[in-house]
Amino acid sequence: METINWKELGFGYMKTDYNVRCYYRDGKWGELEISSSETINLHMGATALHYGQESFEGLKAFMGKDGRIRIFRMRENALRMQHSCDGIMMEKLPVEIFEEAVLKAVRLNKSFVPPHDSGASLYIRPLLIGSGAEIGVKPAHEYLFIVFVMPVGPYFKEGFKPTDLVIYRHFDRAAPHGTGKYKVGGNYAASMVSGQEAKHGGFSAVLYLDSKEKKYIDECGPANFFAIRGNSYITPDSESILPSITNKSLMVLAGELGLTVEKRKVPYEELATFDEVGACGTAAVISPIKRIFDADENREFVYGTEPGIWSTRLYNKLRAIQYGDEPDKYGWNAIVE
Ligand SMILES: *Cc1c(COP(=O)(O)O)cnc(C)c1O
Repeated sequence: METINWKELGFGYMKTDYNVRCYYRDGKWGELEISSSETINLHMGATALHYGQESFEGLKAFMGKDGRIRIFRMRENALRMQHSCDGIMMEKLPVEIFEEAVLKAVRLNKSFVPPHDSGASLYIRPLLIGSGAEIGVKPAHEYLFIVFVMPVGPYFKEGFKPTDLVIYRHFDRAAPHGTGKYKVGGNYAASMVSGQEAKHGGFSAVLYLDSKEKKYIDECGPANFFAIRGNSYITPDSESILPSITNKSLMVLAGELGLTVEKRKVPYEELATFDEVGACGTAAVISPIKRIFDADENREFVYGTEPGIWSTRLYNKLRAIQYGDEPDKYGWNAIVE
């Protein structure tokens, strides 16, 4: 194996030694299979290719000081994938298969788990696709589940440095009764043009408003939105956002740190009142936001150029639990034996 410079890692694909696969055929899930190939054989009529029957997950494994590898809230990801299966009519993947495949993929690629003090982690990407052929629009009869992994550094190149978001009213990511609450590729296809426009403008992501009225904050492309005002942790409640496991965890930790947690509709106008603003998700953990530019109204909201005190506390607390530096009192970590 080539030596990896753990501190230089960004967030990107890297080949590791093995991936784990499981096929659903003839009405049942097969045995887990180990593969060292990076490619799959897929029928050209697969529903994943034509009609977007595809869901993915993202979770991370961390190396502890004690040399033990911990996977953060794996069961939550397994359950969320089941929810996505219901949302786009895919065969529901049993939680045990999900968990067993994730554990196996991490164990088989142990040498790619970044060291404890590197600030990097092993990103785990489970993927479920409709692999059976259908040319009419209907759910496939065959599915393929794959888990692959890769070591990653920070998602945004700035790491835990504040970045800028942009609001565009002429783009929507997901409709209120659409698939925004499921982790499916289709939502991402729908966000590529706006995402690219944001990148070109020097922003790290788009902050979407609710698609119907454009009155409330939804989320930021691949991450949930939260804000701090006084002693409150405020995060949007919306039908079209993805329930982030990082956000769910931060809500618990915010409560523990003495903040009041408000999960509710967040009117756009409140952007002017927040002390701290951040984006949260597995990939970025917390990405503090220093500025939100409203491109339609040519208005900007500015926050600190340094991470805020509560964002920093929350970030440190979550990372400490994930790396095993603090007791895991909520039972969030699965130890890889
Ligand atoms: C995955 C994802 C998130 C973050 O969820 P986590 O469980 O915290 O990783 C947020 N928004 C969208 C749209 C996502 O797909």
